[in-house]
Amino acid sequence: MKRRRFLQWAGGLTIAASSPLRAIAQSDDDPQDIYNRLKQSLDLRFVVAGGNIDVAIAGNASPLDKHRIEVWIRRSASAIAAYFGRFSVAHWSLLVTLNEGDHIGPATTWGHPTSMTHIALGRNVSESALHDDWVMVHEMTHLALPTLPQRNAWFMEGNATYVEPIARAQWGQLTPQEVWRWAVDDMPKGQPHDGDEGLDHTHTWGRTYWGGAMYWLLAEIAIYKNSGGRYRLQDALRAIHSESGGNTSFWSVEQTILVGDAAVQGDTLSSLYRELKDRPVAIDLHGALQQLGISEVDGAIRFDDRAPLAELRRSITTLQAPT
Ligand SMILES: [Zn+2]
Repeated sequence: MKRRRFLQWAGGLTIAASSPLRAIAQSDDDPQDIYNRLKQSLDLRFVVAGGNIDVAIAGNASPLDKHRIEVWIRRSASAIAAYFGRFSVAHWSLLVTLNEGDHIGPATTWGHPTSMTHIALGRNVSESALHDDWVMVHEMTHLALPTLPQRNAWFMEGNATYVEPIARAQWGQLTPQEVWRWAVDDMPKGQPHDGDEGLDHTHTWGRTYWGGAMYWLLAEIAIYKNSGGRYRLQDALRAIHSESGGNTSFWSVEQTILVGDAAVQGDTLSSLYRELKDRPVAIDLHGALQQLGISEVDGAIRFDDRAPLAELRRSITTLQAPT
């Protein structure tokens, strides 16, 4: 499950879930096969926050299984809608394959031929694991942005990694301490190692997920600073989401950041991309977290409200009005 290798894929974004490491695993799924299976059966159909959701369940689902799956999807979709203002896409098809385990995942999301996800679910999964799950929200974050060329997979994986806990915090599913615990503990895994190149060229697990997540944290800070506190990264991402319509659009990274930058009246996303795409840049993560007033004291995450960007830190995990 913990293959530290980024595999060539055919347009699918893949994660191995229920692992403390956000590893990338190879998906053997053929998107056309998933599409055909989704066309053939329908177990649940409902609407959440403007998104029409069709679910097919493989593996003899009981009425209780179906109920639990619907609650899980609705809960995850609510967090995503809180962040983006509405559900990720107008229409989404999900194939859930039940197995005898108690894990959630792996999961893979595609934008072609339609917006769709395949996720594995152990029928013995506990209520608390379903309640606290991040995998579904991670996949729904992928749905919200356009599909990019594979060399920019870090841009998409980093975005899902960065946004998922924040979306859940905005919807009240995580505390701010839990969100920033991930940044303190996990973002250092995205720093370049010896021999690494820029984010467009080195496709290791750490650089893809956490190197990508650091790009978005830096963008969060820079957009706020460059606009004198008027805009936040969420404004840029909502614009990209709204103009692309989600992952059924196939865009270039340049087009994507142009739309985001225009929404926040700057060039932050473009200049950060130019800085990090080709060269291995060590990020001053400690300095960034310090500006936000985030530190770890005796094993606990502590906040300093006198830090220069304390207001930004508070607003990141606060529910924002729809635009
Ligand atoms: Zn992913």
